[in-house]
Amino acid sequence: FTTVNILGTKVTSITMQQAVETAVQFIEAKHNYMIATANAEMIMRATKDQELKEILNKVNLVIPDGAGTVWASNYLGVHMPERVAGFDLVQNLLQLAPSKGWRVFFFGSAPGVAEKAKLKAQQDYPGIEIVGVRNGFFTAADDKAIVAEINAAKPDLLLVALGVPKQEKWLYKHLPELDCALSIGVGGTLDVMAG
Ligand code: UDP
Repeated sequence: FTTVNILGTKVTSITMQQAVETAVQFIEAKHNYMIATANAEMIMRATKDQELKEILNKVNLVIPDGAGTVWASNYLGVHMPERVAGFDLVQNLLQLAPSKGWRVFFFGSAPGVAEKAKLKAQQDYPGIEIVGVRNGFFTAADDKAIVAEINAAKPDLLLVALGVPKQEKWLYKHLPELDCALSIGVGGTLDVMAG
């Protein structure tokens, strides 16, 4: 796929269908892949946050989440076929999870939210295996235990909802220790699912 450099962050020109196919390949490759969802706010933040910018340029896929990202790309002369919202990508992957046999872990958001999002996922995607939930309020002293909790659940897909840039930084730092095929920073996705 073509990438477009938007203010220093390379975003991939990709359709939702291609993003889903790529995510499926990432999960099947079992290589600790990471996807970031770049909206205009994240790209602006990366211009002032070197660590975030470096992470975005190292992860396996940065999708164009938001009309601003699509607009900027087209303005810079790289055709962006459509907006690939992180929320929608996640729903598409959760829908595939039961038939693929993927185990899913929800990490992040306020206490109780991930549990509610789990109930919603079980309603919407019958047979889905949400193998763990953990709220997103913790200190660095808890990192080891959180990684151990995630690994013990053996997820194939890890959704991390700690907000930008915390989710990208936490995930990128712990990716080598995580025993999970694909991790995605998902912002407010669990809140929306929890309703
Ligand atoms: N959050 C969290 N831990 C924190 C800070 C935030 O779990 O230390 C959660 C928060 O409860 C919310 C999500 O991260 O569920 C951030 O959502 P938001 O829509 O603000 O995401 P962003 O716009 O940053 O992508």
